[in-house]
Amino acid sequence: MQKIKNYINGELVEPASKTYIDNYNPAIGKVYSLIPDSDEKDVEIATKAAIDAFPMWSNTSKDERSKVMLKISELIEKNLDRLAIAESIDNGKPVSLAKTVDIPRAAANFHFYATGILHFASESHSMENSAINYTLRTPVGVAGCISPWNLPLYLFTWKIAPAIAAGNCVVAKPSEITPMTAYLLSELCIEAGLPKGVLNIVHGYGHKVGAAITAHPKIPLISFTGGTKTGAEIARVAAPMFKKLSLELGGKNPNIIFADCDFDKMIKTTLHSSFANQGQICLCGSRIMVERSIYEKFKNKFVEETKKLKVGNPASPESKLGAVVSKSHMEKILSYIDLARQEGGTILCGGNQVKLEGEFSEGYFIAPTIIEGLTYDCRTNQEEIFGPVVTIMPFDTEAEALLYANSTQYGLASVVWTENLTKAHRIANQIHAGIVWVNCWLVRDLRTPFGGVKSSGVGREGGFEALDFFTEPKNVCIKLN
Ligand code: NAD
Repeated sequence: MQKIKNYINGELVEPASKTYIDNYNPAIGKVYSLIPDSDEKDVEIATKAAIDAFPMWSNTSKDERSKVMLKISELIEKNLDRLAIAESIDNGKPVSLAKTVDIPRAAANFHFYATGILHFASESHSMENSAINYTLRTPVGVAGCISPWNLPLYLFTWKIAPAIAAGNCVVAKPSEITPMTAYLLSELCIEAGLPKGVLNIVHGYGHKVGAAITAHPKIPLISFTGGTKTGAEIARVAAPMFKKLSLELGGKNPNIIFADCDFDKMIKTTLHSSFANQGQICLCGSRIMVERSIYEKFKNKFVEETKKLKVGNPASPESKLGAVVSKSHMEKILSYIDLARQEGGTILCGGNQVKLEGEFSEGYFIAPTIIEGLTYDCRTNQEEIFGPVVTIMPFDTEAEALLYANSTQYGLASVVWTENLTKAHRIANQIHAGIVWVNCWLVRDLRTPFGGVKSSGVGREGGFEALDFFTEPKNVCIKLN
């Protein structure tokens, strides 16, 4: 069976413990590879390698850093098929999605920051004739990057790329549930000639490897994407050590549909925003609010189109939904569907595990599920489910739609559907979220600030915000007379 290895100091190595964790293929429900069960010893070795590499890497010119990152980006593109298949096997997502979204975006992340760093400048503040200030921005040192399983290589590289572009060295941990493409990335980094110690990837459990990175006194910065509870734990440990923190956490995003929207366009996109990646994208719109005058029309069409979405073999181009990521996650999602029933919800379609034939008979498949008849403040509408499950609710006024939209502890993304420009601006202005999409979803310009408010996180990724985060500003003030 294939054994994944840690990538430390430029080499692929076994974990100090020499023990491994089972890695499942969620579409067939079987172990197909082994993940290093690393611990604080491996984190210590990786951190030492990063510290040793830092003087060299932070003094390497931006041009040189850029060149090696562009090479990594090219190699990701060159290995598109292999990486997409690996991501699909590891995560359960359709290969078609990995091939058009996950892997191209991983290449784009490296490309974007390889070029972005060349344009990164700092400020100067003139005090007329008395003094001039300029701000130096220097890399922080060793950055800890911890990422989740839903968009494995996409989110892993979204952290690593700005960190190393800015001149930091990195100790990174991908999710233990989906480690494969991070491992393949380490091979590509070696091939690209990334100097040893610049990027170190330590595989293993969150409570061992993630916790050791978070608590390590020589890692002054943590960039984390994952669940809100884990984010709170990381903040609790990191705060007394005064670490820089970027936390991208959970969501329960509203999708507000007004009667004056472009109906066909809205239905097509709402199918994606509800069920893409089996609903396991932090940006999916899981609470759909529809203006009452088109509620029945919406409901009928949305249910009709959802029933057409094929759940099946992730490798088949016809499958719109693959498997959810793990057995325990499938059970969690199904338990939320039960909760919705108990809370008085009506299941309009889905609501069950899908049992496929043959090699997929033990896979973790769930039918896309639409639920109506719930109050906006019940648990089903307040807690993150993170699966192919959405609720639909009618509303009468803008104020009511906003009340529902803003009622959760989360505030990551939101979608507004209306052809009325003034209304779109008005609603966008009043939604408590870091991201508002109007008449679209998941349209991403990597220069824009990305992140959430309330329990959805602290800080922003993307564009120069990430380069700001991965550098330390120092103001120099010079008296002119
Ligand atoms: P998770 O919090 O369980 O795990 C995320 C990562 O943290 C994993 O690598 C895990 O091993 C590690 N970890 C676990 N315990 C840790 C600890 N004590 N210390 C340090 N690290 C630890 O999240 P998940 O289940 O992998 O991902 C799903 C969650 O991620 C959802 O809540 C989703 O909304 C969120 N998410 C948010 C964004 C965003 O951009 N805001 C993007 C994707 C996913």
